[in-house]
Amino acid sequence: MSAEQQSLDGLEEEARRALAEVTTLPALADVRARFLGKKSALSGVLRGIGRLEGADRARVGEQANLVKERIEALVSARRDELGRGERERALSETRLDVTLPGLRAPRGGLHPITRIERDVVAFFTGLGFGVEEGPEVETQWHNFEALNMPPDHPARDMQATFFVDGGHVLRTHTSPVQIRTMSGRTPPFRFIAPGRVYRCDRSPRHSPMFHQVECFMVDENVSFADLKGILYAFQRHMMGADVELRFRSSYFPFTEPSAELDYRCLICRGAGCATCSQSGWIEAGGCGMIHPVVLEHCGIDPERWQGFAFGMTLDRAAMLRWGIPNIHLLFDGDVRVLEQI
Ligand SMILES: [Zn+2]
Repeated sequence: MSAEQQSLDGLEEEARRALAEVTTLPALADVRARFLGKKSALSGVLRGIGRLEGADRARVGEQANLVKERIEALVSARRDELGRGERERALSETRLDVTLPGLRAPRGGLHPITRIERDVVAFFTGLGFGVEEGPEVETQWHNFEALNMPPDHPARDMQATFFVDGGHVLRTHTSPVQIRTMSGRTPPFRFIAPGRVYRCDRSPRHSPMFHQVECFMVDENVSFADLKGILYAFQRHMMGADVELRFRSSYFPFTEPSAELDYRCLICRGAGCATCSQSGWIEAGGCGMIHPVVLEHCGIDPERWQGFAFGMTLDRAAMLRWGIPNIHLLFDGDVRVLEQI
């Protein structure tokens, strides 16, 4: 074995070791320059070939080119390895862990009034009642006169009214929907009318805007007993089987006879508290048999048809169900309150 042969074999072995120690692509480029560059020992051997004798020249030239090819192959293989490693590292560093829990979007809930209203609608539609709506800006005729309250009637004072332009009012109750629903139509009727109503009144139990639901039924043989039966079933559905009710005789221009419906206060159970003004009872709404004059205003013969009507406030029902002491908590939009419901 000639000296050239030994030194070429040594070069290949040396390059193999150096490449094994290389861990980055820039370091690989340095190693490649050291073994294959213009100043490398291998280049020196190739440059010196011209000075050799004929037979040696061919043999050493062949050997040197072989070694050069092998070192090139080693460098290329190492480059592939390093590149693959870097790709894997980059992938693992930026990897998306699909098992990580995502950011939870805040979830809203239905407003207590909406929940109560849906409950009411579900109960009455289950009994075959329809649902009607009417405008919140109402004519005085629909809000008062048709309901047996002519312009000078003292009962108008019972409903502190917001007047708007053009002789209209913000409806003080949902009863005008009775007039709109019955006018020009022929009984029998079974409807409820939930909606916003307005009165110029503000206290822990009163808000200038609140929610009522009107329920009315007109047929040939409807009596106060039907009204009472439906109201008991309805209040048990809303408040639970142990709800206590009482009917107090009362006066409304649009019903005769009339009664006020009270619940036993569910907050103090009758002992007396701020919500029930220490009375132990809370007004749930008014009811009665629809006044014959109201039926006549709608073109319905009161000799043939009778009906009952009642109106309750949804807000009061929500306050009782969730023990809310002040009606304004329902409308202030305080998320801390609403989250508890
Ligand atoms: Zn009470």
